[in-house]
Amino acid sequence: METTLVLLKPSCVQRQLIGEIVNRFERRGLQVAGMKMMQLDDNILREHYAHLVDRPFFPALAQSMKASPVVAMALRGVEAVAVVRGMTGYTNGRKADPGTIRGDYAMSNQQNIVHASDSPENAKIELERFFRPEEIFEYNHALLSFLYATDER
Ligand code: UDP
Ligand code: MG
Repeated sequence: METTLVLLKPSCVQRQLIGEIVNRFERRGLQVAGMKMMQLDDNILREHYAHLVDRPFFPALAQSMKASPVVAMALRGVEAVAVVRGMTGYTNGRKADPGTIRGDYAMSNQQNIVHASDSPENAKIELERFFRPEEIFEYNHALLSFLYATDER
């Protein structure tokens, strides 16, 4: 099992799509292992988007991520990182495939609804960035035997 980090960005929260996006992850079979609303600030954003701080669009990106609270989620499943990235779609919503979250809800390269960790290594780092250990739960997933074959779990 892997756990991955998703942020429902201000573009999701403001457009009142929280329930709709959470529903997509739950329907896929991902377990919600942690979830909370939080207001991001420049410190956490400079860390989270360290690969982008020198890009000209970074100030606008930071502004867009501070425009309202976000919802941080820890999602668990087999190969959860790759599954969630696949569901997220290409960064630019205008180029993202229909059927992906960005391809279904976004028209923007920046206001693109969700963040999702891009590798298991980064998922671990990002989960620690947004959650305290006791905010991520291990609990029985009653439907597990109907979500996966025995040798997949
Ligand atoms: N972003 C932007 N302009 C760009 C590229 C990215 O505003 O030209 C924003 C966008 O919100 C994106 C985030 O920066 O989701 C992180 O960029 P990254 O390349 O890591 O894309 P992601 O992993 O989110 O698809
Ligand atoms: Mg990224």
